[in-house]
Amino acid sequence: MITVDTVSKRFGEYTALDAVSLEVPEGSLTALLGPSGSGKSTLLRIIGGLELPDAGVIRIDGEDVTKVPPQRRGIGFVFQHYAAFRHMTVRDNVAFGLTVRKQPKARIEARTSELLGIVGLAGYAERYPNQLSGGQRQRMALARALAVEPRVLLLDEPFGALDAKVRAELREWLRRLHEEVEVTTLLVTHDQEEAMSIADRIAVMDNARIEQVGGPRELYDRPANPFVAGFLGAVSQLGDRLVRPHDILIETDALDGGLEAQVQRVVHLGFEVRVELMLTDGAEVSAQLTRQTVDELELAHGDIVWLHAAPTTVLPDAGPDAAATVDPGPEVAGERAA
Ligand code: ADP
Ligand code: MG
Repeated sequence: MITVDTVSKRFGEYTALDAVSLEVPEGSLTALLGPSGSGKSTLLRIIGGLELPDAGVIRIDGEDVTKVPPQRRGIGFVFQHYAAFRHMTVRDNVAFGLTVRKQPKARIEARTSELLGIVGLAGYAERYPNQLSGGQRQRMALARALAVEPRVLLLDEPFGALDAKVRAELREWLRRLHEEVEVTTLLVTHDQEEAMSIADRIAVMDNARIEQVGGPRELYDRPANPFVAGFLGAVSQLGDRLVRPHDILIETDALDGGLEAQVQRVVHLGFEVRVELMLTDGAEVSAQLTRQTVDELELAHGDIVWLHAAPTTVLPDAGPDAAATVDPGPEVAGERAA
């Protein structure tokens, strides 16, 4: 288990981490998700010992490692741009950590072969890194990081430099690898789909702080604030409420109230149909419906309809400036009560 206890870090006047606390449970695959510049890599580097915090404590399995050098923390690292030894074969690259630790030769052989098998590179052992594809190189990097049996695996956008198709394949692969090796893993990513599809827990970062930690479903359905709501998925604003586009119900009569709107455009995207609407105050709203529902409602450009929010997800109130507001503050709360 990794424990981050009120860690702060400044670069000059700039606060990169502001009293951040986080627990990465034993054996979990936790994602650190947030926009570029939110402090993810800084936190990962501090956990790994590549950077010292200004304040706060890092513990690994209960041991205070805040001042322990990286090579003595029991950590495996993989970065976006993995620096392989170009003059060494794949096998020797994977074996590197064991070789420098002067492990018995037979043990190195056995462990390296096992790892090459686990990462699907058994047939590539005698190649050189430049004879591998980008995806294969990152799998080699994972094998090298795992070779020394780290207590903790730290991955910083490991698939960030690969194209979308390979990235999607490697997500699946990492998920299965983690089930096999069960090493406590912290994965940094700015890609919410990547985090949602791989991780069992997600910590959402913004602006040097962790906004919320939870399972993918929990964060999507019960985001703590408008930032988390918008970062984990699309949101539409219905009056002062934030709603997922698929949680907007459209009625063609006003019987049970609702917000009046006019259909601007019906966009068929296959199974899913996006209906773009305009409220009477001019605000635009996007709703996501199934093709069947749109056909049943016979929706067309110019129709007047009434919108309701289905209660499947509970999003925080939008506040005056939904995208930017994290904590609406007492002033706004007062306005709402009035
Ligand atoms: P992320 O990984 O979420 O994109 P980083 O942790 O890399 O964010 O960076 C957070 C902020 O700290 C950024 O604004 C970045 O410019 C700044 N920063 C990171 N490392 C340094 C450094 N060594 N010196 C100065 N500023 C830094
Ligand atoms: Mg980064």
